[in-house]
Amino acid sequence: MTILRGLGATATLAGMRQLTCVEAGRLEWHDVPPPRITGAGEALIRPLAVARCDIDRFLTSGLFPLRGPFAVGHECVGEIVELSDDVRGLEIGQRVVPSFQVSCGRCRRCRAGLTALCEAFPTLSDYGMQPLSGTEYGGMLSDLLRVPYAEAMLRPIPPHADSVALASVSDNVLDGYRGVAPHLAEYPGSEVLVVAHGLPSIPLYAAQAALALGASTVDFASDDAEVLAVAERLGAHPIATDFGKPARTYPIVVDGGLSQQGLAFAIRATEPEGILQSVSYHAGPPVPVPMGRMYTLGIHLHVGRCHAAALLPEVMELIGAGRLRPEAVTTRVVDWEDAPSAFLEPAIKLIVRREA
Ligand SMILES: [Zn+2]
Ligand SMILES: [Zn+2]
Repeated sequence: MTILRGLGATATLAGMRQLTCVEAGRLEWHDVPPPRITGAGEALIRPLAVARCDIDRFLTSGLFPLRGPFAVGHECVGEIVELSDDVRGLEIGQRVVPSFQVSCGRCRRCRAGLTALCEAFPTLSDYGMQPLSGTEYGGMLSDLLRVPYAEAMLRPIPPHADSVALASVSDNVLDGYRGVAPHLAEYPGSEVLVVAHGLPSIPLYAAQAALALGASTVDFASDDAEVLAVAERLGAHPIATDFGKPARTYPIVVDGGLSQQGLAFAIRATEPEGILQSVSYHAGPPVPVPMGRMYTLGIHLHVGRCHAAALLPEVMELIGAGRLRPEAVTTRVVDWEDAPSAFLEPAIKLIVRREA
């Protein structure tokens, strides 16, 4: 049996382990056939540290309807173990962050920076999210992951960077960043309010990015004392609230959560002609929005997914310059073997680390 270089005994050409959600609230390691390079432009990576995305607990708890077992995990730092011959700018052994969204980098939308809507793949083509897309692209809590457009989807991390520190850059760090970056670029130095009502980590990354990008004030409203404590450590001003009437309004508000009360609070906290950026995915029934109030006051509601592959270069540059420190949001790090139970437990930001 051939063992791929550097993989040890857990992954061979005959089989590998993959964390699989078999039903709501139950995760198991399954032996599955490993992915293989199938053509030009591809990479196989070995995930070294995997972060739990805020949406993962919704996926594994069955909040979104399950379509049978699915591979879990879509945020990681991995090591390149195999490349198609034609791939340029990447090397075997390099550590990289993969985009959690599968995208080609070449189509009209990818070239316009809209990589979440790549025309080469169906909508919601992501790792670890088969319940949403219906297609299994593999999960990152596995011994090998296939990356179809390696040059477009992988971004090397600095050689001395810690894999655990950067594990969430595939998705949630980017999501927090894009929640504020374009708006602070348009209105530099603005005051920002982040409203966290169910998404634990993305709002914290948004607060960190707002501070890094020169917001004059970053207030952070939540009903979760633990999340508020992390926000305060990041340098934001914590506001404990039950999402009743906001005390004041802000020119830029980030809404992170699925509760209608939290969304209503965020809308009311947005200044007339201000920007309300939602970073939440409402997969269920339609959510009522007070269009009359928003029309009258000119509340500019922004919704939509982050465009992960397009955002990776600028966010990695901020991290490389020490201006974004995703590790400051991490609240729990566990061993790889403990992933099946740990991935179901509450923690603001959980990282699973492979043994060295
Ligand atoms: Zn995610
Ligand atoms: Zn594309």
